[in-house]
Amino acid sequence: MKIAKLLILSFCLSFSLQAKHMPRVAIAGLGIESSTFSPALTLEEAFHAKYGDDVFTSYPFFSKDSSLRKQAEWLPALVGKSLPGGAVTREAYESLVKQTLDLLKKNGPYDGLFFDIHGAMSVVGLDDPEGDFIVRIRKVIGTETLISTSMDLHGNVSWRLAQNTDLITCYRMAPHEDAMQTKKRAVENLLERLESGQGKPAYKAWIPIPVLLPGEKTSTRIEPAKTIYAAVTPASKQKGIIDAAIWVGYAWADEPRNHAVVMVTGDDKAIVTKTAEQLAKSFWDARKGFAFVAPTGSLQEALDKALASNKHPFFISDSGDNPTAGGAGDVTWTLTEILKRPEFKSETGPSLIYASIPGPELVKSAIAAGVGGKVDGYAGGKVDARFAPPIRLVGTVMSIEQGDRNAETEVVIKVGSVNVIVTAKRKPYHKEADFTRLGLNPRKSDIVVVKIGYLEPELYAMRADWILSLTPGGVDQNLERLPYKRIKRPTFPLDKDMAEPDLKAQLVPASDKK
Ligand SMILES: [Zn+2]
Repeated sequence: MKIAKLLILSFCLSFSLQAKHMPRVAIAGLGIESSTFSPALTLEEAFHAKYGDDVFTSYPFFSKDSSLRKQAEWLPALVGKSLPGGAVTREAYESLVKQTLDLLKKNGPYDGLFFDIHGAMSVVGLDDPEGDFIVRIRKVIGTETLISTSMDLHGNVSWRLAQNTDLITCYRMAPHEDAMQTKKRAVENLLERLESGQGKPAYKAWIPIPVLLPGEKTSTRIEPAKTIYAAVTPASKQKGIIDAAIWVGYAWADEPRNHAVVMVTGDDKAIVTKTAEQLAKSFWDARKGFAFVAPTGSLQEALDKALASNKHPFFISDSGDNPTAGGAGDVTWTLTEILKRPEFKSETGPSLIYASIPGPELVKSAIAAGVGGKVDGYAGGKVDARFAPPIRLVGTVMSIEQGDRNAETEVVIKVGSVNVIVTAKRKPYHKEADFTRLGLNPRKSDIVVVKIGYLEPELYAMRADWILSLTPGGVDQNLERLPYKRIKRPTFPLDKDMAEPDLKAQLVPASDKK
Protein backbone atom coordinates (compact mmCIF):
# COMPACT_ATOMS: atom_id res chain seq x y z
CA MET A 1 0.00 0.00 0.00
CA LYS A 2 2.70 2.40 1.07
CA ILE A 3 4.81 1.50 -1.93
CA ALA A 4 1.90 2.03 -4.31
CA LYS A 5 1.26 5.45 -2.78
CA LEU A 6 4.91 6.33 -3.07
CA LEU A 7 4.99 5.23 -6.68
CA ILE A 8 1.96 7.33 -7.52
CA LEU A 9 3.45 10.26 -5.67
CA SER A 10 6.79 9.97 -7.43
CA PHE A 11 5.04 9.57 -10.79
CA CYS A 12 2.98 12.70 -10.18
CA LEU A 13 6.04 14.56 -9.03
CA SER A 14 8.13 13.63 -12.04
CA PHE A 15 5.21 14.38 -14.34
CA SER A 16 4.67 17.81 -12.85
CA LEU A 17 8.40 18.51 -12.92
CA GLN A 18 8.56 17.51 -16.54
CA ALA A 19 5.55 19.61 -17.42
CA LYS A 20 7.06 22.52 -15.57
CA HIS A 21 10.42 22.25 -17.28
CA MET A 22 9.25 21.66 -20.83
CA PRO A 23 9.52 25.16 -22.32
CA ARG A 24 6.81 26.43 -24.62
CA VAL A 25 8.51 27.71 -27.76
CA ALA A 26 6.89 29.40 -30.74
CA ILE A 27 8.34 29.44 -34.26
CA ALA A 28 7.74 32.32 -36.66
CA GLY A 29 9.47 34.25 -39.40
CA LEU A 30 9.50 35.63 -42.92
CA GLY A 31 12.49 35.35 -45.20
CA ILE A 32 13.25 37.22 -48.38
CA GLU A 33 15.88 39.56 -49.74
CA SER A 34 14.22 42.12 -51.92
CA SER A 35 15.83 44.68 -54.17
CA THR A 36 14.43 48.18 -54.30
CA PHE A 37 16.46 48.75 -57.48
CA SER A 38 14.30 46.27 -59.39
CA PRO A 39 10.82 47.16 -60.67
CA ALA A 40 9.56 43.72 -59.58
CA LEU A 41 7.11 43.38 -56.68
CA THR A 42 6.70 40.35 -54.43
CA LEU A 43 3.23 39.08 -53.53
CA GLU A 44 2.06 36.96 -50.61
CA GLU A 45 2.00 33.62 -52.44
CA ALA A 46 5.73 33.93 -53.16
CA PHE A 47 6.36 33.18 -49.45
CA HIS A 48 4.81 29.68 -49.63
CA ALA A 49 3.70 30.22 -46.02
CA LYS A 50 3.65 27.13 -43.82
CA TYR A 51 1.41 26.93 -40.76
CA GLY A 52 1.39 24.87 -37.56
CA ASP A 53 3.10 21.48 -37.69
CA ASP A 54 3.81 21.87 -41.41
CA VAL A 55 6.51 24.36 -40.34
CA PHE A 56 8.65 21.45 -39.04
CA THR A 57 9.11 20.17 -42.60
CA SER A 58 11.36 23.17 -43.32
CA TYR A 59 13.91 22.04 -40.72
CA PRO A 60 15.58 18.60 -40.84
CA PHE A 61 16.62 19.07 -37.19
CA PHE A 62 12.94 19.19 -36.24
CA SER A 63 12.16 15.76 -37.72
CA LYS A 64 9.70 13.73 -35.64
CA ASP A 65 12.28 11.61 -33.83
CA SER A 66 14.88 14.36 -33.40
CA SER A 67 16.11 15.16 -29.90
CA LEU A 68 15.34 18.87 -30.33
CA ARG A 69 11.73 18.07 -31.06
CA LYS A 70 11.47 16.40 -27.66
CA GLN A 71 13.11 19.21 -25.71
CA ALA A 72 10.25 21.67 -25.87
CA GLU A 73 6.59 22.06 -26.51
CA TRP A 74 6.84 23.56 -29.98
CA LEU A 75 4.12 25.92 -31.14
CA PRO A 76 4.84 26.84 -34.75
CA ALA A 77 2.85 29.82 -36.01
CA LEU A 78 3.83 30.79 -39.55
CA VAL A 79 7.09 30.57 -41.47
CA GLY A 80 7.27 31.97 -45.01
CA LYS A 81 10.28 31.88 -47.33
CA SER A 82 10.38 33.53 -50.70
CA LEU A 83 12.94 33.49 -53.44
CA PRO A 84 14.64 36.87 -53.56
CA GLY A 85 12.73 39.42 -55.59
CA GLY A 86 11.50 42.98 -55.73
CA ALA A 87 10.03 44.83 -52.76
CA VAL A 88 7.18 43.07 -50.97
CA THR A 89 3.83 44.82 -51.37
CA ARG A 90 2.50 46.42 -48.20
CA GLU A 91 -0.65 44.28 -48.50
CA ALA A 92 1.34 41.03 -48.63
CA TYR A 93 3.47 42.06 -45.65
CA GLU A 94 0.51 43.17 -43.54
CA SER A 95 -1.40 39.99 -44.34
CA LEU A 96 1.51 37.70 -43.39
CA VAL A 97 2.24 39.68 -40.22
CA LYS A 98 -1.42 39.66 -39.17
CA GLN A 99 -1.68 35.90 -39.68
CA THR A 100 1.49 35.39 -37.64
CA LEU A 101 0.26 37.60 -34.80
CA ASP A 102 -3.17 35.93 -34.75
CA LEU A 103 -1.55 32.49 -34.49
CA LEU A 104 0.87 33.66 -31.80
CA LYS A 105 -2.06 35.09 -29.80
CA LYS A 106 -3.91 31.81 -30.05
CA ASN A 107 -1.16 29.59 -28.61
CA GLY A 108 0.56 31.83 -26.03
CA PRO A 109 2.07 32.34 -23.51
CA TYR A 110 5.60 31.38 -24.52
CA ASP A 111 8.93 30.89 -22.83
CA GLY A 112 10.73 31.27 -26.13
CA LEU A 113 10.38 32.17 -29.80
CA PHE A 114 12.60 30.97 -32.62
CA PHE A 115 12.51 33.90 -35.06
CA ASP A 116 13.71 32.68 -38.44
CA ILE A 117 14.24 35.60 -40.82
CA HIS A 118 16.53 36.57 -43.67
CA GLY A 119 16.88 40.22 -42.71
CA ALA A 120 16.88 41.94 -46.10
CA MET A 121 13.16 42.26 -46.72
CA SER A 122 12.10 45.51 -48.36
CA VAL A 123 8.45 46.45 -48.09
CA VAL A 124 6.86 49.21 -50.13
CA GLY A 125 6.53 52.30 -47.93
CA LEU A 126 7.98 50.74 -44.74
CA ASP A 127 11.50 51.01 -43.36
CA ASP A 128 13.21 48.15 -41.52
CA PRO A 129 10.41 45.57 -41.88
CA GLU A 130 12.12 42.97 -39.66
CA GLY A 131 12.41 45.61 -36.91
CA ASP A 132 8.74 46.47 -37.36
CA PHE A 133 7.78 42.79 -37.31
CA ILE A 134 9.62 41.96 -34.08
CA VAL A 135 8.16 45.03 -32.31
CA ARG A 136 4.67 43.88 -33.29
CA ILE A 137 5.48 40.34 -32.12
CA ARG A 138 6.67 41.72 -28.77
CA LYS A 139 3.31 43.49 -28.36
CA VAL A 140 1.63 40.08 -28.58
CA ILE A 141 4.04 37.84 -26.66
CA GLY A 142 5.41 40.41 -24.21
CA THR A 143 8.98 41.28 -23.30
CA GLU A 144 9.64 38.28 -21.00
CA THR A 145 9.74 35.69 -23.78
CA LEU A 146 13.24 34.83 -24.95
CA ILE A 147 13.60 35.44 -28.69
CA SER A 148 16.40 33.80 -30.65
CA THR A 149 16.81 35.23 -34.15
CA SER A 150 18.52 33.38 -36.98
CA MET A 151 19.51 35.33 -40.09
CA ASP A 152 21.29 35.31 -43.42
CA LEU A 153 24.62 37.13 -43.32
CA HIS A 154 23.23 39.33 -46.12
CA GLY A 155 20.55 40.59 -43.76
CA ASN A 156 20.58 43.92 -41.93
CA VAL A 157 20.53 44.37 -38.17
CA SER A 158 18.92 47.63 -37.10
CA TRP A 159 19.23 48.84 -33.51
CA ARG A 160 15.50 48.14 -33.13
CA LEU A 161 15.89 44.52 -34.19
CA ALA A 162 18.93 44.14 -31.94
CA GLN A 163 17.02 45.54 -29.00
CA ASN A 164 13.92 43.43 -29.35
CA THR A 165 15.68 40.12 -29.86
CA ASP A 166 17.63 38.44 -27.07
CA LEU A 167 19.87 36.04 -28.95
CA ILE A 168 20.88 36.63 -32.54
CA THR A 169 23.12 34.94 -35.08
CA CYS A 170 23.73 34.52 -38.79
CA TYR A 171 25.41 32.24 -41.32
CA ARG A 172 29.19 32.02 -41.38
CA MET A 173 29.50 30.77 -44.93
CA ALA A 174 28.75 32.23 -48.35
CA PRO A 175 27.48 30.36 -50.30
CA HIS A 176 25.32 29.43 -47.33
CA GLU A 177 26.29 25.82 -46.83
CA ASP A 178 25.76 26.27 -43.08
CA ALA A 179 22.20 27.61 -43.29
CA MET A 180 20.58 24.71 -41.40
CA GLN A 181 23.45 24.50 -38.95
CA THR A 182 22.92 28.18 -38.12
CA LYS A 183 19.18 27.83 -37.55
CA LYS A 184 19.86 24.78 -35.39
CA ARG A 185 22.41 26.74 -33.35
CA ALA A 186 19.84 29.50 -32.80
CA VAL A 187 17.38 26.90 -31.50
CA GLU A 188 19.97 25.14 -29.33
CA ASN A 189 21.14 28.40 -27.78
CA LEU A 190 17.53 29.31 -27.05
CA LEU A 191 16.84 25.96 -25.35
CA GLU A 192 20.11 26.13 -23.45
CA ARG A 193 19.25 29.52 -21.98
CA LEU A 194 15.73 28.38 -21.11
CA GLU A 195 16.74 25.05 -19.59
CA SER A 196 19.59 26.50 -17.56
CA GLY A 197 17.38 29.32 -16.33
CA GLN A 198 19.95 31.88 -17.47
CA GLY A 199 17.42 33.54 -19.78
CA LYS A 200 18.31 36.75 -21.54
CA PRO A 201 21.98 37.49 -22.12
CA ALA A 202 23.38 40.14 -19.85
CA TYR A 203 25.09 41.90 -22.79
CA LYS A 204 24.41 42.42 -26.46
CA ALA A 205 27.17 44.28 -28.28
CA TRP A 206 26.28 45.91 -31.60
CA ILE A 207 28.70 47.58 -33.97
CA PRO A 208 27.64 49.11 -37.26
CA ILE A 209 30.45 49.07 -39.84
CA PRO A 210 30.19 51.69 -42.61
CA VAL A 211 30.88 49.24 -45.41
CA LEU A 212 28.45 48.10 -48.10
CA LEU A 213 29.53 45.29 -50.40
CA PRO A 214 27.83 43.04 -52.92
CA GLY A 215 27.65 39.41 -51.78
CA GLU A 216 29.80 38.43 -54.75
CA LYS A 217 32.75 40.21 -53.17
CA THR A 218 32.38 38.51 -49.81
CA SER A 219 32.43 34.79 -50.54
CA THR A 220 33.91 32.99 -47.57
CA ARG A 221 35.68 30.65 -49.99
CA ILE A 222 38.28 33.32 -50.64
CA GLU A 223 40.15 35.99 -48.74
CA PRO A 224 39.62 38.26 -46.95
CA ALA A 225 36.16 36.96 -45.94
CA LYS A 226 37.56 33.45 -45.47
CA THR A 227 39.81 34.46 -42.55
CA ILE A 228 37.37 37.00 -41.11
CA TYR A 229 34.55 34.46 -40.94
CA ALA A 230 36.82 31.63 -39.80
CA ALA A 231 37.39 33.66 -36.63
CA VAL A 232 33.69 33.77 -35.74
CA THR A 233 33.25 30.21 -34.48
CA PRO A 234 36.26 30.29 -32.10
CA ALA A 235 35.15 33.75 -30.93
CA SER A 236 31.70 32.42 -30.11
CA LYS A 237 33.10 29.50 -28.12
CA GLN A 238 34.85 31.71 -25.54
CA LYS A 239 33.62 31.56 -21.98
CA GLY A 240 31.08 34.29 -21.34
CA ILE A 241 29.90 34.42 -24.95
CA ILE A 242 26.72 32.86 -26.31
CA ASP A 243 27.13 33.69 -29.98
CA ALA A 244 28.96 35.99 -32.36
CA ALA A 245 28.07 37.03 -35.87
CA ILE A 246 29.09 39.30 -38.74
CA TRP A 247 26.54 40.59 -41.23
CA VAL A 248 27.74 41.81 -44.63
CA GLY A 249 24.35 43.47 -45.07
CA TYR A 250 22.32 43.92 -48.24
CA ALA A 251 23.49 46.25 -50.98
CA TRP A 252 20.37 46.48 -53.18
CA ALA A 253 18.09 48.40 -50.89
CA ASP A 254 18.37 52.03 -49.97
CA GLU A 255 17.78 52.48 -46.22
CA PRO A 256 19.94 53.73 -43.35
CA ARG A 257 20.18 50.15 -42.00
CA ASN A 258 21.98 48.80 -45.07
CA HIS A 259 25.58 48.25 -43.96
CA ALA A 260 27.71 45.62 -42.28
CA VAL A 261 27.15 44.85 -38.58
CA VAL A 262 28.83 42.78 -35.87
CA MET A 263 26.92 41.46 -32.87
CA VAL A 264 28.11 39.42 -29.93
CA THR A 265 25.88 38.21 -27.10
CA GLY A 266 26.91 36.85 -23.71
CA ASP A 267 27.17 37.41 -19.98
CA ASP A 268 30.75 38.68 -19.65
CA LYS A 269 30.82 42.37 -20.51
CA ALA A 270 34.55 42.64 -21.12
CA ILE A 271 34.84 39.64 -23.39
CA VAL A 272 31.60 40.41 -25.25
CA THR A 273 32.66 43.96 -26.13
CA LYS A 274 36.27 43.09 -26.84
CA THR A 275 35.30 40.24 -29.18
CA ALA A 276 32.77 42.39 -31.03
CA GLU A 277 35.37 45.12 -31.50
CA GLN A 278 37.96 42.65 -32.76
CA LEU A 279 35.57 41.19 -35.32
CA ALA A 280 34.42 44.65 -36.47
CA LYS A 281 38.00 45.84 -36.82
CA SER A 282 38.99 42.78 -38.86
CA PHE A 283 36.14 43.50 -41.28
CA TRP A 284 36.89 47.22 -41.55
CA ASP A 285 40.64 46.68 -41.94
CA ALA A 286 40.03 44.26 -44.81
CA ARG A 287 37.59 46.52 -46.67
CA LYS A 288 39.89 47.29 -49.57
CA GLY A 289 40.72 43.63 -50.08
CA PHE A 290 37.21 42.44 -50.94
CA ALA A 291 37.13 41.55 -54.63
CA PHE A 292 34.85 39.62 -56.92
CA VAL A 293 35.01 35.85 -56.45
CA ALA A 294 35.81 35.24 -60.09
CA PRO A 295 37.31 37.19 -62.96
CA THR A 296 34.77 39.77 -64.09
CA GLY A 297 34.09 41.30 -67.44
CA SER A 298 31.49 42.71 -69.76
CA LEU A 299 29.31 40.14 -71.49
CA GLN A 300 31.20 40.62 -74.73
CA GLU A 301 34.51 39.96 -72.97
CA ALA A 302 33.04 36.92 -71.22
CA LEU A 303 31.69 35.42 -74.46
CA ASP A 304 34.92 36.14 -76.37
CA LYS A 305 36.94 34.42 -73.66
CA ALA A 306 34.58 31.44 -73.38
CA LEU A 307 34.54 30.91 -77.16
CA ALA A 308 38.32 31.07 -77.40
CA SER A 309 38.89 28.83 -74.38
CA ASN A 310 39.66 25.13 -74.45
CA LYS A 311 38.18 24.74 -70.94
CA HIS A 312 34.62 23.47 -70.93
CA PRO A 313 32.09 23.82 -69.48
CA PHE A 314 32.89 27.52 -69.32
CA PHE A 315 30.45 29.18 -66.93
CA ILE A 316 29.29 32.79 -67.29
CA SER A 317 27.29 34.38 -64.46
CA ASP A 318 24.62 36.75 -65.78
CA SER A 319 24.92 38.57 -62.47
CA GLY A 320 22.93 41.79 -62.87
CA ASP A 321 19.61 39.93 -63.00
CA ASN A 322 20.45 37.22 -60.46
CA PRO A 323 17.04 36.14 -59.13
CA THR A 324 18.62 34.76 -55.94
CA ALA A 325 19.85 38.22 -55.03
CA GLY A 326 16.65 40.06 -55.90
CA GLY A 327 16.76 40.53 -59.67
CA ALA A 328 13.50 40.31 -61.59
CA GLY A 329 14.91 37.24 -63.34
CA ASP A 330 13.29 38.15 -66.64
CA VAL A 331 15.78 40.65 -68.05
CA THR A 332 16.37 39.59 -71.67
CA TRP A 333 19.44 41.73 -72.32
CA THR A 334 22.02 38.96 -71.96
CA LEU A 335 20.13 36.37 -73.99
CA THR A 336 19.46 38.97 -76.69
CA GLU A 337 23.19 39.70 -76.94
CA ILE A 338 24.05 35.99 -77.06
CA LEU A 339 21.59 35.24 -79.87
CA LYS A 340 22.97 38.17 -81.89
CA ARG A 341 26.40 36.51 -82.02
CA PRO A 342 27.08 34.76 -85.35
CA GLU A 343 28.88 31.86 -83.62
CA PHE A 344 25.63 30.49 -82.19
CA LYS A 345 23.41 30.91 -85.29
CA SER A 346 23.96 27.41 -86.65
CA GLU A 347 22.90 24.19 -84.89
CA THR A 348 26.47 22.94 -85.18
CA GLY A 349 27.91 26.00 -83.46
CA PRO A 350 29.42 25.87 -79.94
CA SER A 351 26.83 24.53 -77.52
CA LEU A 352 25.50 26.97 -74.96
CA ILE A 353 22.89 26.45 -72.24
CA TYR A 354 21.06 29.57 -71.11
CA ALA A 355 19.37 29.29 -67.67
CA SER A 356 16.84 30.82 -67.73
CA ILE A 357 14.08 33.13 -68.85
CA PRO A 358 10.42 33.15 -67.76
CA GLY A 359 7.92 33.05 -70.63
CA PRO A 360 4.54 31.58 -69.67
CA GLU A 361 2.98 32.09 -73.12
CA LEU A 362 5.94 30.52 -74.87
CA VAL A 363 5.77 27.59 -72.43
CA LYS A 364 2.12 27.09 -73.48
CA SER A 365 3.09 27.15 -77.16
CA ALA A 366 5.85 24.63 -76.46
CA ILE A 367 3.41 22.28 -74.75
CA ALA A 368 1.03 22.60 -77.71
CA ALA A 369 3.86 21.93 -80.19
CA GLY A 370 5.24 19.00 -78.15
CA VAL A 371 8.83 17.77 -77.98
CA GLY A 372 10.39 18.04 -81.46
CA GLY A 373 7.84 20.67 -82.51
CA LYS A 374 8.65 24.23 -83.60
CA VAL A 375 7.77 27.37 -81.66
CA ASP A 376 7.91 31.07 -82.39
CA GLY A 377 7.08 33.41 -79.52
CA TYR A 378 8.26 35.87 -76.90
CA ALA A 379 9.76 35.44 -73.44
CA GLY A 380 10.95 37.71 -70.61
CA GLY A 381 10.77 41.48 -70.29
CA LYS A 382 7.42 41.47 -68.48
CA VAL A 383 8.74 42.78 -65.18
CA ASP A 384 12.03 44.41 -66.06
CA ALA A 385 12.23 45.63 -69.66
CA ARG A 386 14.52 48.57 -68.86
CA PHE A 387 17.48 47.08 -70.69
CA ALA A 388 15.86 45.05 -73.51
CA PRO A 389 12.32 44.23 -74.67
CA PRO A 390 10.75 40.73 -74.56
CA ILE A 391 12.88 38.41 -76.69
CA ARG A 392 11.56 36.51 -79.72
CA LEU A 393 12.63 32.86 -79.69
CA VAL A 394 12.21 30.77 -82.86
CA GLY A 395 13.31 27.19 -82.35
CA THR A 396 12.66 23.54 -81.58
CA VAL A 397 11.18 22.18 -78.35
CA MET A 398 13.76 19.83 -76.83
CA SER A 399 12.02 18.93 -73.57
CA ILE A 400 9.07 19.73 -71.31
CA GLU A 401 9.03 19.17 -67.54
CA GLN A 402 6.15 19.79 -65.15
CA GLY A 403 5.89 20.21 -61.41
CA ASP A 404 8.86 22.26 -60.21
CA ARG A 405 8.02 24.20 -57.02
CA ASN A 406 9.21 27.50 -58.45
CA ALA A 407 9.14 27.19 -62.22
CA GLU A 408 5.95 25.03 -62.39
CA THR A 409 6.68 24.18 -66.03
CA GLU A 410 10.08 24.26 -67.74
CA VAL A 411 10.78 23.80 -71.43
CA VAL A 412 14.01 23.77 -73.39
CA ILE A 413 13.96 25.55 -76.73
CA LYS A 414 16.88 25.15 -79.09
CA VAL A 415 17.71 28.29 -81.07
CA GLY A 416 20.76 27.77 -83.31
CA SER A 417 23.29 26.09 -81.01
CA VAL A 418 21.77 27.59 -77.86
CA ASN A 419 19.51 25.61 -75.52
CA VAL A 420 17.31 28.18 -73.81
CA ILE A 421 15.47 27.12 -70.66
CA VAL A 422 12.08 28.87 -70.61
CA THR A 423 9.97 28.64 -67.46
CA ALA A 424 6.36 29.43 -66.57
CA LYS A 425 7.62 31.21 -63.44
CA ARG A 426 11.14 32.27 -62.52
CA LYS A 427 13.46 29.75 -60.95
CA PRO A 428 17.13 29.67 -59.95
CA TYR A 429 19.34 27.00 -61.56
CA HIS A 430 21.81 25.97 -58.85
CA LYS A 431 22.08 22.20 -59.07
CA GLU A 432 23.24 19.76 -61.69
CA ALA A 433 19.86 18.00 -61.49
CA ASP A 434 18.11 21.27 -62.44
CA PHE A 435 19.71 20.75 -65.85
CA THR A 436 19.81 16.98 -66.21
CA ARG A 437 16.12 16.59 -65.44
CA LEU A 438 15.51 18.68 -68.57
CA GLY A 439 17.69 16.37 -70.64
CA LEU A 440 20.59 18.84 -70.66
CA ASN A 441 24.15 17.89 -69.79
CA PRO A 442 25.96 20.98 -68.52
CA ARG A 443 29.24 19.03 -68.21
CA LYS A 444 29.22 18.39 -71.97
CA SER A 445 28.17 21.92 -72.91
CA ASP A 446 30.81 24.32 -74.19
CA ILE A 447 29.31 27.28 -72.36
CA VAL A 448 26.72 27.54 -69.57
CA VAL A 449 25.21 30.95 -68.82
CA VAL A 450 23.26 31.20 -65.57
CA LYS A 451 21.41 34.07 -63.91
CA ILE A 452 23.45 33.81 -60.73
CA GLY A 453 26.22 35.62 -58.87
CA TYR A 454 28.88 33.36 -57.38
CA LEU A 455 28.43 29.78 -58.48
CA GLU A 456 26.57 27.54 -56.06
CA PRO A 457 28.61 24.51 -54.90
CA GLU A 458 27.55 21.96 -57.55
CA LEU A 459 28.10 24.37 -60.43
CA TYR A 460 31.35 25.57 -58.93
CA ALA A 461 32.60 21.99 -58.70
CA MET A 462 31.68 21.37 -62.33
CA ARG A 463 33.12 24.52 -63.91
CA ALA A 464 36.27 24.26 -66.02
CA ASP A 465 36.43 28.05 -66.09
CA TRP A 466 34.20 30.92 -65.01
CA ILE A 467 33.61 34.62 -65.55
CA LEU A 468 31.25 36.75 -63.54
CA SER A 469 29.77 39.02 -66.16
CA LEU A 470 28.75 42.48 -64.95
CA THR A 471 25.44 42.58 -66.81
CA PRO A 472 22.67 45.14 -66.19
CA GLY A 473 19.64 44.43 -63.97
CA GLY A 474 18.05 45.02 -60.58
CA VAL A 475 21.08 43.67 -58.69
CA ASP A 476 23.83 45.36 -60.62
CA GLN A 477 27.10 44.27 -59.02
CA ASN A 478 28.66 47.63 -59.70
CA LEU A 479 27.29 49.49 -56.66
CA GLU A 480 28.70 52.75 -57.88
CA ARG A 481 26.11 52.67 -60.70
CA LEU A 482 23.21 52.49 -58.18
CA PRO A 483 21.26 55.67 -57.28
CA TYR A 484 21.55 55.50 -53.45
CA LYS A 485 19.88 58.37 -51.60
CA ARG A 486 19.15 57.14 -48.05
CA ILE A 487 21.97 54.87 -46.90
CA LYS A 488 24.22 56.37 -44.21
CA ARG A 489 27.19 58.28 -45.58
CA PRO A 490 30.07 58.12 -45.56
CA THR A 491 30.14 54.45 -46.50
CA PHE A 492 32.94 52.48 -48.08
CA PRO A 493 33.46 52.01 -51.04
CA LEU A 494 31.15 54.82 -52.17
CA ASP A 495 33.20 57.26 -50.09
CA LYS A 496 36.65 55.86 -50.65
CA ASP A 497 38.67 58.29 -48.58
CA MET A 498 36.39 58.42 -45.55
CA ALA A 499 37.85 58.89 -42.07
CA GLU A 500 38.32 55.98 -39.68
CA PRO A 501 34.92 55.20 -38.12
CA ASP A 502 34.24 54.66 -34.43
CA LEU A 503 34.08 50.89 -34.05
CA LYS A 504 33.44 50.83 -30.31
CA ALA A 505 30.89 48.28 -29.17
CA GLN A 506 27.50 49.77 -28.31
CA LEU A 507 25.62 47.86 -25.65
CA VAL A 508 22.01 47.31 -26.68
CA PRO A 509 19.44 47.41 -23.84
CA ALA A 510 17.81 44.08 -22.98
CA SER A 511 14.46 43.45 -24.65
CA ASP A 512 12.60 43.96 -21.37
CA LYS A 513 14.29 47.31 -20.67
CA LYS A 514 13.29 50.58 -22.24
ZN1 LIG B 1 22.57 35.45 -48.40
